[in-house]
Amino acid sequence: MSNKSRFIYLDHAATTAVDPRVVEAMLPYFEHSYGNPSSVYRFAGQAQEALNTSRRTVADILGCTPKEIVFTGCGTESDNLAIRGVAWASRERGNHIITTPIEHHAVETTCHQLAEHWGYRLTVVPVDRHGMVDPDDIAQAITDETVLISVMYANNEVGTIEPLAEIGEIARKRGVHLHTDAVQAGGSLDINVDRLNVDLLSLSGHKFYAPKGVGVLYVREGTPLLPIQTGGGQEGRRRAGTENIPYIVGLARALELANDDRESEAQRLAALRDRLIAGVLGAIPDAFLTGHPTQRLPNSASFCFQGIDGEATLLQLDLAGIAASSGSACASGEAEPSHVLTAMGIEPRLALSSLRLTLGRENTAQDVDDVLGVLPDIVRKLRALSPLYPMPVSEA
Ligand code: PLP
Repeated sequence: MSNKSRFIYLDHAATTAVDPRVVEAMLPYFEHSYGNPSSVYRFAGQAQEALNTSRRTVADILGCTPKEIVFTGCGTESDNLAIRGVAWASRERGNHIITTPIEHHAVETTCHQLAEHWGYRLTVVPVDRHGMVDPDDIAQAITDETVLISVMYANNEVGTIEPLAEIGEIARKRGVHLHTDAVQAGGSLDINVDRLNVDLLSLSGHKFYAPKGVGVLYVREGTPLLPIQTGGGQEGRRRAGTENIPYIVGLARALELANDDRESEAQRLAALRDRLIAGVLGAIPDAFLTGHPTQRLPNSASFCFQGIDGEATLLQLDLAGIAASSGSACASGEAEPSHVLTAMGIEPRLALSSLRLTLGRENTAQDVDDVLGVLPDIVRKLRALSPLYPMPVSEA
């Protein structure tokens, strides 16, 4: 196949294709075993059994008990339930929440809503230029009123991995619950909740080859949590609503598949990522890697290119058959520079030039080489048309 007709998908942080083995596991629960797991007759028992098995599979991978697993409708819902659920349930104890400026909007806007409308106090600790939180800053921010800390495991725009285990140790000593949004990490990093020292952890199926519209919230036993969605007693009274059995089965199967070759696949992806990063930085002048140079997701490469507009780069890449992103998919379409990049101290104009390339299961070294074959030329042509490149001396 010639390069021109090839489609290269490099936006796995936005979503992934559903693995055919996942589809296969799901199909019986659409076609045959469609009972409501809460019904009492034997036919519904198949759905109940699938729910129990899926919960056990997920719990085994997270290193927790099945009753600590809550299935949700997506990663956003898991984040909402963790933050609002703990904040509401702990209102008598305190009203202070700590978070970071690089969280996904699912965490960020939930925390801000609690502060703006419900009288909670919010501390947003800074990150360094690599997007890394300093655990000491978290320790300094904790007060007697602090009930929750929410720090993401790995950032969706720049891939930086946060020092969760250290933060968790601090939180535990001070009797504060720690939530982590592990949506980007679920498919590739260790998600054992004890090693991570977390009390709540969010996952989303569509980031690791399960369908969109299913998520997980791990809730450590003893963590106070009020449901944010009320109704029936499903999911241990923590998330009302009839469980979406086919999707839950799919999520569990996908997590199992990711877990089976977690280390080898992470190594393979990291090698591709490093080839991509070295190739881009070597071939394109005034290109900068964003995020941490080493503590980053194995599949994530993100850059800024002085003097161009990230959206224009995406359009040109699209014409070349390459799907990429300028940051988080949920934020694209907004002309605002990314809140993650600006929190890292990147000036807004440079932040608007960002490009995120996220690798996945089907990518090969050939894909990386094909991208390296077109990207430098795209950047060169866009710069030739740009009044911002080279940067005017007054702003340099
Ligand atoms: N958290 C992070 C870090 C994400 O990257 C995303 C999705 O991009 C979400 C939460 C939201 O997950 P979902 O799309 O399942 O609602």
